Amino acid sequence: MARIPEEVIRAVQESVDIVDVVSRYVTLKRSGRNFQGLCPFHEEKTPSFTVFPESRRFKCFGCGEGGDVFAFLMKRGNMRFIEAVEDLAREANVPLPRAEADPGEAERVRLRIDALRALEFAAGFFAAVLARDAGKRARDYLERRGFTAGTLSAFRVGFAPDEGDALLRYARQKGIPLDVLFAAGLVRRNDRGSCFDMFRGRVMFPIHDLRGRVIGFGARTLGDDQPKYLNSADGLLFHKSREMYGLNLAREAARVAGRLLVVEGYTDVMHCHQAGLAEVAAGLGTALTRENAQQLRRFGVPVFLVFDGDEAGLKAAERAAETLLAEQVEGAVALLPPGQDPADVIVASGKGPIDAAVEHATDLWTYRMERSISRHGMGTLEGREKAAKELVGVVGKIADPVRFELALRLLAERTGVPESTLRSEIKAPRTAPGAGVGRPEASPAWIEAERHVLRAGLEDTALWDRVEVLYPPARFRDEGLRFVAAAFSDLHRRGESVTREGLLSVLADKDEAVRALQALEPAADARHHAESFLARLAEKERLREAGTSVEAVVRARKDFPAATS
Ligand SMILES: [Zn+2]
Repeated sequence: MARIPEEVIRAVQESVDIVDVVSRYVTLKRSGRNFQGLCPFHEEKTPSFTVFPESRRFKCFGCGEGGDVFAFLMKRGNMRFIEAVEDLAREANVPLPRAEADPGEAERVRLRIDALRALEFAAGFFAAVLARDAGKRARDYLERRGFTAGTLSAFRVGFAPDEGDALLRYARQKGIPLDVLFAAGLVRRNDRGSCFDMFRGRVMFPIHDLRGRVIGFGARTLGDDQPKYLNSADGLLFHKSREMYGLNLAREAARVAGRLLVVEGYTDVMHCHQAGLAEVAAGLGTALTRENAQQLRRFGVPVFLVFDGDEAGLKAAERAAETLLAEQVEGAVALLPPGQDPADVIVASGKGPIDAAVEHATDLWTYRMERSISRHGMGTLEGREKAAKELVGVVGKIADPVRFELALRLLAERTGVPESTLRSEIKAPRTAPGAGVGRPEASPAWIEAERHVLRAGLEDTALWDRVEVLYPPARFRDEGLRFVAAAFSDLHRRGESVTREGLLSVLADKDEAVRALQALEPAADARHHAESFLARLAEKERLREAGTSVEAVVRARKDFPAATS
């Protein structure tokens, strides 16, 4: 019944470097024996997120988030527990036996892994085509755009031939099943049911995730086909609103440079790289999304929007600035001369003008504010009112109290509307991102007590006999912990020794239970807390049996007020 054997979980945990895994998402600095960085789970300015290589765990002293490498990937990498184990197992060369239980889920995981391989295969195929005769037209285009061979190979640029099913035929020949090609978004079916390549006659830009794996493509037509740029469709692996182009290459560079540049297009990213600016990325759509902003925040460096200074660029910068402000990203707007994107500027005069624009960048709030002000004008009362009302909605999204107060004061000065009036216009309560999540059913103290019971049980299985009498698994109020407790009882009844890994193995396909189990990091006084919790339960039980509970009497009176008056 176990989905992933205990030994595999243990082997993976022991052979994977948690510092390495976490640094794919968080910039870490060594601090003594440990590593520190800005917590990816809550908003902070000084690092309280710590990774402990010796115990192979992480802990944030700000928000309390913590656990092992699996817990980190589940939370940060949006992975299921099984996926995290499989993923790390492959990386660490730990052999994985195939699971028979729940074929649907196992199939999905396998499909994901196969789709990743197919995308990697396709990227290789497109790059090879670009180098051949069939890629001549695309090579000419890229050369005209000023790209060197080094840049093209660093970004693995390729060309999808215009033949209709060139990739499909080659992939089938190499034994890649059709369902995998569909899952990877590489193949489509037409109305008559025949299959053909998703991308035809287009320059191919592979899109990588933060770990450098190809998860999709951006494709530019060389002809008049619409749209000019076509992205992989959202699917098993690819989510357009979540990803950014070039971010995998930008991570280390951004840490070194202490800044991250956001540009608008793939070719802008590539030109920046070619000019020696590697700390650069671009969104995949027309606008920067909330998910993009959240990811950028975790880089922990200021973000500069390096946009074309034409009207479309100004508008895009306005929207992006508002999104960054709302997601508490520090940053500024660096505008280029109208009609010039970063690629044009670099081709004409190198990276100098980009650096200069960044140097003279306008902070996000000032930029956003001045846009409204210039749109409505301060010359009339009506214009002032419109601008103020529009901006009150934006300033209300700034969660950092200091930044909020400064922005509010600036707004009052510019529009002439008193701060107190602006303040009363801000209706939405300002809360930090991620605040207010939690289950209302049980108090945190109660859930912590349930955790202590399980911790103590893991330390000394003999305790469980009493737990089953006083607080059987079905009574656990936290859903995840309830699963853990039930699995505990199962193993215990069968006479097996109950360990963390054993429970993980049994519960592998129940992510909620895995998460609950991961939150059970050992606590020194678990036994003490568990004992007093059980003692209180026993006392309550005794009172209930005696039928003289004060609470019961009060409740009876409330239910039948007429009877007591
Ligand atoms: Zn935190």
